[in-house]
Amino acid sequence: MYHDGVELIRTMHFDYCACILLAMILVSTIMRKMTKGRLNILFIVLTVTALCCTAADSIAISHDNVLYANRAIRMLWHEVYFFFHVSTTPLFCMYAVELTDTKHLIKGRKVLIHLLALPYMLALGALIVNPINKKTFYFDETLHYTRGEWFWLLYVTAAIYIVYLVYILIRFRRSVSTKRWASLLLLLACMVGAVAMQMVFPRYPVEMFATAVGLLFISVMVQRPEEIMDVESGAKSRNAFAEDMQRSFLNRKNFDIIVIRVSNLHSFGDLLSYDERVEILKRVIDSAEKQSMQLGTYCEVYYLRGGVFALTLEEKDKGKTRQLAQNVSDDLSRPIKVSSMHINLITYVCYIHCPVDIDNNKSLSDFINKAIPSETGISSAEEILSSGRYDMLVDMDSIISSAISENRLEVYYQPIYSINDGRFNSAEALIRLKDEKYGFVPPDLFIPEAEKTGQIHKIGKFVFENVCDLIASDEFKGLGLDYIEINLSVVECMRETLADEIIDTLARFGISHDKINLEITETFAATSQSVMEANIKKLTEAGISFSLDDFGTGYSNMQSIALLPLAITKLDKTFAALEDNQKMTLVVEHSIDLIKALQMKIVVEGVETKEMLERFSTLGCEYIQGYYFSKPLPREEFIKFINAKNNG
Ligand code: C2E
Ligand code: MG
Ligand code: MG
Repeated sequence: MYHDGVELIRTMHFDYCACILLAMILVSTIMRKMTKGRLNILFIVLTVTALCCTAADSIAISHDNVLYANRAIRMLWHEVYFFFHVSTTPLFCMYAVELTDTKHLIKGRKVLIHLLALPYMLALGALIVNPINKKTFYFDETLHYTRGEWFWLLYVTAAIYIVYLVYILIRFRRSVSTKRWASLLLLLACMVGAVAMQMVFPRYPVEMFATAVGLLFISVMVQRPEEIMDVESGAKSRNAFAEDMQRSFLNRKNFDIIVIRVSNLHSFGDLLSYDERVEILKRVIDSAEKQSMQLGTYCEVYYLRGGVFALTLEEKDKGKTRQLAQNVSDDLSRPIKVSSMHINLITYVCYIHCPVDIDNNKSLSDFINKAIPSETGISSAEEILSSGRYDMLVDMDSIISSAISENRLEVYYQPIYSINDGRFNSAEALIRLKDEKYGFVPPDLFIPEAEKTGQIHKIGKFVFENVCDLIASDEFKGLGLDYIEINLSVVECMRETLADEIIDTLARFGISHDKINLEITETFAATSQSVMEANIKKLTEAGISFSLDDFGTGYSNMQSIALLPLAITKLDKTFAALEDNQKMTLVVEHSIDLIKALQMKIVVEGVETKEMLERFSTLGCEYIQGYYFSKPLPREEFIKFINAKNNG
């Protein structure tokens, strides 16, 4: 008991300060939304426990100094204080194991967990029976707080966990980042230092104050939302994913990842407000959490941006991971209601067993970036990895480079039929790449990669020169073709010298400008840049015409389409495959009317059957391209084909 009131208040300053500090840490943790994920939850439990312990300590000390205090009430507050006190050190250990992510490395984990729980259970047992047997502490006849003969149990319990914490810090030094290791070391130093100080100055309860300082340090150094949280979705961020995966691979952990790709998020365009978009992200996260809870598993959720989410699970039961992937896929296939809209997400779910399927961070990010399809479905990484297509995607860069250097590129030509003239009047040049290992690689796979690496410029030049070579040849003159269409990538059009190079090449081959037509897509309108505009203007002024490729696949922004200098619009093959019902016929009819009103010719792509041909012919479309007439053909075959059809 403190007889001097001033001394009592001075002594309790430490507890008051600790209380304020811990409450501030707690509030700031919640306000910064650091409430999801096992590490965050453990940190909150730890802070709440320390706060309750400190508060109970203050109340207990105050009651000890109230003159006519009730013995039972004094006993109760000391019991509460000790309950929280014995809980803090084991919680610290759990937090340290979670922070270092090394649980799986501890040999004989289950036995050790039981062994480690034993001192805590004993200490709790001692506290529970204490009001009856008074062996841990009691109040003597003068109501003085007195330690009992079992009191050492509480000290030994705390000491065991502190020793275990030291063991974790030494054993797993290399498994954690220096920052995390230093934070744990400082926390340990605060705890040990405070216990030592309290032993020397028993009347100064600095222990909880030191604990609060240690937690503050962890809160500032480790629990940093800007480093680990994605502000938009509230899930863990891409950086946190990279860091966590790096540690898991380094620690040779067995774990599973479920990757969810929502591929149509961006396609809602301006339909959704920022809040509605965030709402969709949250729905995906909620679905993952809800499904994993229903299956009795636990997963960490990350948002990797661009509509890609990752869930990580401790690998305990592989069947559960597959089941969770399936459940999430099923759940997300149902329309979700955002504001007053019902939205159907296009989601692909893929599950990965690590390290069996993938065992390092670089391969993981390659896999996530390149291998997850953008359609609806579910598959395992094992299936994707063994399909051969994945190796091709990863090797794409070198496939393209070697195809360019070893002359394994070839230009094919697909004839385009004019219904009015009753002959083939033009053709589209389409690049073909034949790899030694993978055979023909589809342009849809290698063109986007070539655009990323800049190799598209070489490919574009190759196609252009080949087309010029064909047009300049004697064989071409007798074919009766008006022009050849060449696909132009947005990336090529951003090259300042493009227009001059095209005009120079045409001059070099002695070709008139109306013999070629350049195909661009709607992306041009969307990404319009001054260099692109200058190129298109220069080429149009030089008498070179443009087509709009793949009409009907994007947003079909009529305003920007009307502004581009286009001679031809090519209806995408999905248009040709549209169901032949009343509403669809209306859509097709009106699109055709609009294009005609804009004074453009129409080419229908992807016409595969006689029925399709008749349908578009009835709708007044003049030019037809598709397998019905011919697939894209190599140069010689193409010349033979056109000769036979146009001149036969
Ligand atoms: P695209 O420009 O829309 O070319 C038409 C695609 O439809 C070609 O695919 C063609 O083979 C295919 N096709 C034609 N008729 C039919 C049909 O009746 N049914 C079906 N299912 N498909 C048909 P391909 O050759 O695989 O080219 C795919 C895309 O790759 C092209 O789409 C184009 O965007 C790009 N591409 C091809 N060659 C080049 C090139 O030289 N340069 C650039 N920048 N892109 C190219
Ligand atoms: Mg095209
Ligand atoms: Mg097309």
